[in-house]
Amino acid sequence: LRWWDHVRPAPKDPITSVTEAFLADSSPIKINLGVGAYRDDEGKPVILQCLRDAEAKIAGCDFLGIGRESNSSAASSKLVEESVKLVYGKDSNIIKEGRYAGVQTLSGTGACRLFAEFQKRFHPESPIYLPNPTWSNHHNIWRDAQVPQNTFGYYHPDSKSLDFTALMNDVKNAPDGSFFLLHPCAHNPTGVDPTEEQWREISYQFKVKNHFPFFDMAYQGFASGDLDRDALSIRIFLEDGHLLGCAQSFAKNMGLYGHRVGCLSVLCNDMKQAVAIKSQLHKIARAMYSSPPAHGISLVSTVLSDPDIKPLWAKEVKGMVSRIQTVRASLHESLRKLGSTVNWEHITNQVGMFCFSGLTPKQVDRLVKEFHIYMTLDGRMSMAGVTTGNVNYLANAVHEVTK
Ligand code: PMP
Repeated sequence: LRWWDHVRPAPKDPITSVTEAFLADSSPIKINLGVGAYRDDEGKPVILQCLRDAEAKIAGCDFLGIGRESNSSAASSKLVEESVKLVYGKDSNIIKEGRYAGVQTLSGTGACRLFAEFQKRFHPESPIYLPNPTWSNHHNIWRDAQVPQNTFGYYHPDSKSLDFTALMNDVKNAPDGSFFLLHPCAHNPTGVDPTEEQWREISYQFKVKNHFPFFDMAYQGFASGDLDRDALSIRIFLEDGHLLGCAQSFAKNMGLYGHRVGCLSVLCNDMKQAVAIKSQLHKIARAMYSSPPAHGISLVSTVLSDPDIKPLWAKEVKGMVSRIQTVRASLHESLRKLGSTVNWEHITNQVGMFCFSGLTPKQVDRLVKEFHIYMTLDGRMSMAGVTTGNVNYLANAVHEVTK
């Protein structure tokens, strides 16, 4: 039987293939700067205390009972309510007036995919504009939803900072009413975000052009260490009256990677529209995977709503960010001490989990082969993989390949 003879292996994913190569390396000194998962200063994954507290608080609540009813809508609605407060602000009018359609999703990826399907269904001809560069999976998600893609200028490789002129030109030159994906903070992979003033200009221009802003919020808290501060871009768009869409993930800021907890919200003109959009989002999800898992959402809802646990979470997010800032500074300092003539200021200027190092694919290849240091070929380093123990080794290797 020859049903599948024509199936060839899929091309390797640029991010997950780094982990595979890292795991296959038997060297004791190897370092994984590939995937963006937070690690402590010993390189170990972290379970936040706020989650342990939330778990203790809900112990005894009937988890199996929740799971048995596959669309346990009360738990799911609570998650959505708490998530939208986190991103739009607890006092936002949008929430008070119920002018949003929100659904629980399979983490941030699921939220993006659900939105892409929704966009395709109700604006079938509209492309999505993605920043250049962006998280590589954005391309896969909108491609598989059969939405045509364009890119807009974002990063300036020479200055290793935002190419605001190119960004604004592309926003202005796109046809009126285009869909744009924006990273509200801690842009992946560049670690470069617009300033507050630049966000105001972007929002203004989006209004002039009547563009639709879709925010992919995968790292709230990870840019500045402050959850509200990191939502500033979205709050600016809210103030300007945009009806935006937003994907939220709790993978990074709560360390819930495998639990797949997320939320998609679309802002609406009124409650009637919110009901219609929510029902359409549920209908699309129903045919793809019916409903997302029930475990995990009670933990997130508890962290977000409990007056004792929420401040602990905010403190722990700050702690993770502060460790990353410390290793950024150490890497920068080590390279300076080694006498590197390269300008490495971007290591400390960039924010979030990643440093877009500027290393070429050839240099990255040398880091792998000669030093057992793994990162994506575009030179993106996950700073979460850097520790007090390996930062000097890393600096020395980077210095060697950039001499
Ligand atoms: N968007 C961006 C920009 C990301 O970096 C990620 C995680 N790498 C995601 C979305 C989705 O992550 P998850 O599905 O694990 O929540």
